[in-house]
Amino acid sequence: MLAVRVAVMSDVHSNLEALDAVLGVADDLGCDRLLVLGDLVGYGADPDAVIARLVERNAIAIAGNHDLAAIGRFDATWFNEVASSAIAWTTETITADTRAFLTGLEPRRDEPDALLVHGSVRDPVAEYMLTLEDARVSFELGDFAIAFFGHTHLPSIFRIDERGRIDGRILPEGSPIEIQPGARFMLNPGSVGQPRDRDPRAAFLVWEDGRVLGHRVAYPIEKTAAKINAAGLPRWLADRLSLGE
Ligand code: ZN
Repeated sequence: MLAVRVAVMSDVHSNLEALDAVLGVADDLGCDRLLVLGDLVGYGADPDAVIARLVERNAIAIAGNHDLAAIGRFDATWFNEVASSAIAWTTETITADTRAFLTGLEPRRDEPDALLVHGSVRDPVAEYMLTLEDARVSFELGDFAIAFFGHTHLPSIFRIDERGRIDGRILPEGSPIEIQPGARFMLNPGSVGQPRDRDPRAAFLVWEDGRVLGHRVAYPIEKTAAKINAAGLPRWLADRLSLGE
């Protein structure tokens, strides 16, 4: 069997500089498959360039709540004022090609070796999976051995063993997690374009050979922030990037 090294990423949020930094590291590591767990757009100033990059890379992508809202498939009143004004900006700005690409995405996808959801198995679009109880419900709703999710912007890992014991923790940077046979896993790589764990560096993970490894990548935040301000998007969307919030 060919060894495949998979880059798993989420919540790019129209941040081209962060995406390019992550793709650069993924290339250096020899990743040959790219999974993207939704919220490709929303918040940032480069929706079209981000989608073009992912298309060029043959990324396997699903839709997040922001992607669906940008094309009118998710109720924008769900969002706070800052997020909804970014969605309105995105809807007005994106090209027909970007819109067509987003229209083709679903919030859940069953790959042969992993389940992909944006939020959770219970609610692939909008549930924030944060607690062990949230995780238990999603484990019980599927028979996957490994699922990848996003949406919370927090690198994290939930595991359930054969006896039904669940644990959850932060997915660390740089120390591998073994995917033991028998146990089942749900893993969040964190956010590429808007990390919220007080570490402003872009987050993603690499999956291969029965283990995953969390990565963080610095990128030129000032450039991204300047584009957000120049686009007339809410100032907080620029400021929060350097805070990792
Ligand atoms: Zn998001």
